[in-house]
Amino acid sequence: MLGAPHDQWDTLADTLHSMPVSLDELHDPKRVWSLGSDNPAELAAEISRLRAELGAYREALSRPFPVAMLHWPADELAELVAAYPELSAEYPSHEEHLATIETALRELASSGTPNLGVVTGTVPSYEAFAASEGTSPTDTTLLPQYATVLAARGRAVPWPPERGDACWCGSGQSYGECHGLAA
Ligand SMILES: [Zn+2]
Repeated sequence: MLGAPHDQWDTLADTLHSMPVSLDELHDPKRVWSLGSDNPAELAAEISRLRAELGAYREALSRPFPVAMLHWPADELAELVAAYPELSAEYPSHEEHLATIETALRELASSGTPNLGVVTGTVPSYEAFAASEGTSPTDTTLLPQYATVLAARGRAVPWPPERGDACWCGSGQSYGECHGLAA
């Protein structure tokens, strides 16, 4: 909007943006200006573009999102528990955390729950989520809600991976040699 050159933040924003119209185009001052145009043809064109965008959002929102378990990578979990020691009861160790996720997913699968997934949390985004809910990150009832929000935003990785594919835990090993071992 300021007419500044495309920088690293824009590049990052582009990787997170999934809508058909690019952010640069969406924030193009010329385009925004055309919304204030008194030329009916320009306005009509702009309205039909906005309608198309809205359609894309509606479609994204109407897609069923997976039932997802929240996964914290080792460094994020260490940071989380250091910042909020109250959560150490929930997460005694990283290894146990990973084992709990796999067990919970297998239980859900065996009880017939379709469309399972794993979402990966980060401390800053979790803190932002807690703030948006007007509560403290130490509130453990927030954890599954945070997972649901990440899943709704399309961040879930489908579970289970194929045996030969990388494990969801990020170990770099195949699922069959890692958390899929006893599957
Ligand atoms: Zn694993």
